Amino acid sequence: MIIKKNKDEIISYLEDSSNVKGGKAETLYVPENEKEVLEAVKECASKRVPLTISAGGTGTVGGRVPFGGRILSVEGLNKIICVDEKRKRAILQSGVIISDFLKILEPKNLFYPPFPTERTAFIGGNVATNASGEYSFRFGCTRKYIRRIKVILSTGELIEIERGKYFASKDGYLRIAEKKIKIPSYISPPIKNSAGYFSHPEMDLIDLFIGSEGTLGVITEVEVELIPAFSSPFIMIIFLKEEKILNLLGEIKESKKISPLCLEYFDKHSLEFLKEDFPDIPEGAREALYIEEEESEDILEEWVNLMESYPVIDTWISQDRATYERLINFRHKLAENINNYFRKIKLTKVALDIAVPENSFRELFNFYKNIRLNNPRIETVLFGHIGENHLHFNFFPRDEKEREEVIKIYQEAIKKGVKLGGTISAEHGVGKIKHKYLEMMYGKKGVMEMVRVKKEIDPFCIFGLDNIFSKSLLRS
Ligand SMILES: Cc1cc2nc3c(=O)[nH]c(=O)nc-3n(C[C@H](O)[C@H](O)[C@H](O)COP(=O)(O)OP(=O)(O)OC[C@H]3O[C@@H](n4cnc5c(N)ncnc54)[C@H](O)[C@@H]3O)c2cc1C
Repeated sequence: MIIKKNKDEIISYLEDSSNVKGGKAETLYVPENEKEVLEAVKECASKRVPLTISAGGTGTVGGRVPFGGRILSVEGLNKIICVDEKRKRAILQSGVIISDFLKILEPKNLFYPPFPTERTAFIGGNVATNASGEYSFRFGCTRKYIRRIKVILSTGELIEIERGKYFASKDGYLRIAEKKIKIPSYISPPIKNSAGYFSHPEMDLIDLFIGSEGTLGVITEVEVELIPAFSSPFIMIIFLKEEKILNLLGEIKESKKISPLCLEYFDKHSLEFLKEDFPDIPEGAREALYIEEEESEDILEEWVNLMESYPVIDTWISQDRATYERLINFRHKLAENINNYFRKIKLTKVALDIAVPENSFRELFNFYKNIRLNNPRIETVLFGHIGENHLHFNFFPRDEKEREEVIKIYQEAIKKGVKLGGTISAEHGVGKIKHKYLEMMYGKKGVMEMVRVKKEIDPFCIFGLDNIFSKSLLRS
């Protein structure tokens, strides 16, 4: 196993895409197999040294940023163990990079749908954050595709959890190795959600680990379900000169004739953030909808009919592989440009990641619109997975006074989202920057129930300290 102690070699593991500052660690382990992972975990457990699990580092909530202790990077666990084309299953070590996996699947006509926009993420990171991506509108999030995982616990046990095998009892207990663990009493909202430990009556044990943000153990291996690749998808970007997106969205969702793979929203400010990369964005566009669909004559005609009554200023359609790639980049570039901008202005990411149930989305969207209307000085960008009632609302306060205003707005929005039955984090997780919002969602009781679960599974309290909840709660 490679072990690094030199500051220069560790420095790049002290950050992720959240721009959370102050990361520090004394040692970095880079194991190449489960035996070496076990060795590192046992060493840390015996010395009660915190251990932060590190994957692709694309997380946006500081999850892999360590504040002391040691780091275990899963980058050496990078083998695609097998792709079973017949059963449509693949077994991967947790350090496999998503883009590598997708490339391997392409010639086999298979597809793994829930990967996030940032494809340098690792499969283990995706499981730990329950990531979703552009295709989640049609196909759902990571949780749905995970059939089996292997996890190394701080007690030195390697457990294998297969979906459908271990369920919570009627009185709410899960069995893990020799332990009986009471699941939290809250019920996770039945929407896209990455906030805190999953909990549901008679839940499957595997779901507790999916989305646990590196706090329960090291995921070393993952078996995923695959689907057949779709027939030549195409991308369409519709630019509107008036803000009509909600009506359009309603019609799209009601239509029986179209069935998009993804629906992504861009407000006017998002389009401005993309102008340098895409100078042909039409002047006067107030918002845009990015759609991916499976190609067929009928489908295109249906879209044309549907758009007829909307104030469309321009439509871009991918015609071939090259324009398809260019338009995919339209979507990817925005998230990248925003993260770079946060870095440039040296600000920890201030971004709402709320999703709400279908019938509440209009209210949340109008609430966001009013925030913009009432605070015209504050720079914002609103974009994302509108098909799943989930938008990313990013704020860029220029000074301390504006930052205070933004924090107030942020809290009001969280209150609103929770009141509407939503989640404070649909896909990015809680990490180190959203603890108090998690408490607004589940209450102190819910958070303390998570703390209890964590302490029972990781009795030495070494994994992912300060992720999901403050480490100070572990002492209580
Ligand atoms: C430009 C950009 C676009 C993005 N778009 C999306 C998007 O569309 N959808 C989305 O959901 N997210 C998105 N993200 C966020 C990010 O890509 C996801 O959260 C991703 O799942 C993180 O994976 P990672 O491998 O980078 O994990 P890291 O950032 O390295 O770690 C994330 C967390 O997982 C834990 N962890 C990692 N590996 C393991 C393991 N093997 N065992 C246990 N715990 C582990 C870490 O300790 C940490 O808490 C985006 C980020 C960027 C920068």
